Amino acid sequence: MRLTVRDVYDWINEIAPFETAESYDNVGLLIGSMGSEVSKILVALDATPAVVDEAKKLKAELIITHHPLMFRGTKRILDDDYEGAVISSLIREKINLIAAHTNLDLSPEYSGSIGLVKALHLENVRQEGFLYLGELPDAPVSAGELRKRISSCEKDLVYQFGTDDAQITTLCISGGAYDEGFERARALGAQAYLTGEVRHHNALAAIGTGFVLYQGGHYGTEALLVPLLAQGLQSRLDMLKYDVTVFVSQCRPYGGSASC
Ligand SMILES: [Zn+2]
Repeated sequence: MRLTVRDVYDWINEIAPFETAESYDNVGLLIGSMGSEVSKILVALDATPAVVDEAKKLKAELIITHHPLMFRGTKRILDDDYEGAVISSLIREKINLIAAHTNLDLSPEYSGSIGLVKALHLENVRQEGFLYLGELPDAPVSAGELRKRISSCEKDLVYQFGTDDAQITTLCISGGAYDEGFERARALGAQAYLTGEVRHHNALAAIGTGFVLYQGGHYGTEALLVPLLAQGLQSRLDMLKYDVTVFVSQCRPYGGSASC
């Protein structure tokens, strides 16, 4: 049985309906054709030039990313522009591109936040929109100790705003760029909030009330969704007896020894 881009699109739509994405977002099939046949799929956080090269080497016909290309209303596609060059090369290589962004952030099974919730073994987990709250199994835990635990679950630097000896029972997590969510997290009963990017004014506002913020990096707080999504899709395809391989991108976006 031949797998098409539409089949993969339909599965993502089942686990993270595209219509639930934020109005500013740009999700779904962004490049290619629903009828294209697929035998190899690469899952990544971003469609960077390195990820496109990786897909070419793997002979993948489809890339699924979290962050969409053409997020800000692309008006021209030029080879000497960063994004334009990526779009052109995907079209030239006949590689399809699907993005699952804020719709995936809401998924209690496949979001980056739920990946961190599981890695930190949080209990009594509840979700409100993009916020995932859970209790530490050996609560209370000091903020300094919790920072070490978060660091061990991530491949990014974790920065702590707040004192080491603050006592944490409930942690709220929202991966990516959502530092403004900390006030809602506090109202929901959390003593600490982990997100990808923390702006100075929010850090000051939070620690002024004894709250603790962790900045886990945008990549760091979302990277866990890549293997979650790849494994979920591979299991579904295996169950349906498709001879298709789903790859987890090995590229890290910021350089360094593990980057590509
Ligand atoms: Zn993100």
